[in-house]
Amino acid sequence: MREWRKNNLEKARAIGRRHREKFPNEQREWYRNNRELAISLTKAWRKKNKEKVVLDAKRWAKENPEKYAESKARTIAKNPEKYRRLHAARQSRYRSNHPDRKARIDRARYARVRMAPGEYSESKWLQRVEYHGWKCFYCKVKLNKNTLTQDHAIPLIRGGSNHAANLLPACRSCNSKKKDLTVFEYLRRLAA
Ligand SMILES: [Zn+2]
Repeated sequence: MREWRKNNLEKARAIGRRHREKFPNEQREWYRNNRELAISLTKAWRKKNKEKVVLDAKRWAKENPEKYAESKARTIAKNPEKYRRLHAARQSRYRSNHPDRKARIDRARYARVRMAPGEYSESKWLQRVEYHGWKCFYCKVKLNKNTLTQDHAIPLIRGGSNHAANLLPACRSCNSKKKDLTVFEYLRRLAA
């Protein structure tokens, strides 16, 4: 049967089409009654035809750029943490595979930082530190001029500014753990 189908693909498809026209709800009903099986069959098929699935998806994305952007945004919105992690991992992989590009990426990052809106004076910054009692905003460890680091509540790379209001005192360890998270995201992670 499979052999015949392979050799008479058009015919086989026409038979399938006619059958579906005759019994339009049959397939849907079968799916409804065999949900688990249907899902696992689909999964198995996709696994076996991985290349085709990827190619089809790529073609669809190219032909439907707006729909693709929408569906991507929806997927990311469902699990932003996961996609932030994936993006960071991809980025760091790219950087270690392209050492020559790293310098350029660093320069671009520096440019973004320099171009960020807002400016603060040293005294405004120290006022902020004073306000927070010379303590790390996150772990509350006591800081001094040598251990104090400047954290951007909303990182510049995420659209934050250089205004003093966006600056928080942090210890080196918390600052590096927070990386490019916003203060809200990082506090949520600490609370989890
Ligand atoms: Zn800390």
